[in-house]
Amino acid sequence: MALKIKNGDTVQVRSGKDRGKRGKVIRVLPREGQVVIEGVNVITRHRKARPGTPQAGIIKQESPIAASKVMVFHEQHEKAVRIGFRFLADGKKVRYCKICNQTLE
Ligand SMILES: [Zn+2]
Repeated sequence: MALKIKNGDTVQVRSGKDRGKRGKVIRVLPREGQVVIEGVNVITRHRKARPGTPQAGIIKQESPIAASKVMVFHEQHEKAVRIGFRFLADGKKVRYCKICNQTLE
């Protein structure tokens, strides 16, 4: 199944501990059906200084979450919207917003 979420999309989390959070998609993992979103599902790791690891301290890093938990956020409506697929005259598959019918890039 093709993911409805693309790199660079602004999305909103619909469920889980980060519910309601909004952020930009920085990575899509189509095989796993997961996405990585800026500022969402941030895991904090404490790293100790060891030979070979010069950087010690607290490291914050986003972890992937299920793509099914997020929806594309369409600024026009200031809310997350349902996305559909359709084909253009030239056969290209595009996404569109089911509220305003606008084609999304
Ligand atoms: Zn829209």
